[in-house]
Amino acid sequence: MKSKETAKGHFGPYGGRYVAETLMGPLNELARAYEEAKADPGFMAEYHEILREYVGRASPITVARRLSESLGGATIVLKREDLNHTGAHKVNNTIGQGLLAKRMGKKRLIAETGAGMHGVATATVAAYLGMPCEVYMGAIDVERQKPNVERMKMLGATVHAVSEGSATLKDAMNEALRDWVTNCDDTFYVIGTVAGPYPYPEMVRDFQRVIGDEARRQCLERFGRLPDEAIACVGGGSNAMGLFAGFLDDTSVKLVGVEAGGKGLASGEHAASINGGRLGVLHGAKTMLLQTEGGNIIDTYSVSAGLDYPGVGPEHCFLHDTGRAEYSVIDDDEAIAAFDALCRYEGIIPALESSHALAEAIKRAPNMEKGSILLVNLSGRGDKDMENVMRYKASKAKEGGAK
Ligand SMILES: *Cc1c(COP(=O)(O)O)cnc(C)c1O
Repeated sequence: MKSKETAKGHFGPYGGRYVAETLMGPLNELARAYEEAKADPGFMAEYHEILREYVGRASPITVARRLSESLGGATIVLKREDLNHTGAHKVNNTIGQGLLAKRMGKKRLIAETGAGMHGVATATVAAYLGMPCEVYMGAIDVERQKPNVERMKMLGATVHAVSEGSATLKDAMNEALRDWVTNCDDTFYVIGTVAGPYPYPEMVRDFQRVIGDEARRQCLERFGRLPDEAIACVGGGSNAMGLFAGFLDDTSVKLVGVEAGGKGLASGEHAASINGGRLGVLHGAKTMLLQTEGGNIIDTYSVSAGLDYPGVGPEHCFLHDTGRAEYSVIDDDEAIAAFDALCRYEGIIPALESSHALAEAIKRAPNMEKGSILLVNLSGRGDKDMENVMRYKASKAKEGGAK
């Protein structure tokens, strides 16, 4: 079964709008403006021109030849979002929303960020379009992600450290929503993944579907056929939804989302909202969430900061329920092993987020027939993760020594 909204803004029981009544007006204005922009060839032409000239699209696909040979079985093919300007897929979406903000006559961009990558992508586009930008970030994340805070400032953005609640991503989201309610006349709220109230999940998917559309065309050109499986990591789910969107109607292509298993599902320290969560409301939408019995959001854990979102885009929950996509879990150790493998076999340092998708492909490849194709979305590059990886390995070495 295809995913399609089952009613405006709904994916089966998921999605919708669970926001303060004061936000309905701004959301309706946004939905209308987006529908018009999407249907305007001039708008889409400008968006694609910027992707070409500024981001460097199309990003290529690369056959991971030595890695695949070492595993036997399927050939692993990488979609290289790591080669985009800013080093990941997030900029595809922030350019789209930035252009829409301009078209709507908004004067100011705001965003929330956890690991800081979406904040950097928004600050980048704000500078490119000449708009002021303010980013909300949990005070704990500001401490943990200093280099990205510096990047945002260098790009001209103002970073607000949010000390409320647990001082992490969900509190930053609440603060950004509050800013938007107060200043919606001149302010555009740039959401970084396929989450949030309607129309954000649809809009972000559409701005990211360039990944899947390109990859589909590139596979046909390079191999004369479609991949057997398309695999992507799932934090909020935007790079995965962008990849999947290109293949939703190709029922022969298995779609696989990979959630962050952290220290393992049983440990409770993970970020696997579909595999380990329950239905609830976060960020203005009904979706699968990591929450306590009492309905409080649980702080997520993963070695990869970018997968640390306590919810997941509503369309993924629907794809899961209908069986069109499957969702697996990769833990920290497996992700780090895949990170090492790509470095050594292919000369590519992947983001830790993307390493989760890669780890899933590494598991699957040996069990598949020679000549089958596993398409993996390499959502970003790993330069940002160097310190994290070194710290992780040092702590593992210590654990090993203590045994
Ligand atoms: C932010 C990020 C992700 C996770 O976000 P999605 O919305 O799930 O795509 C994955 N990979 C990279 C490189 C990121 O920066």
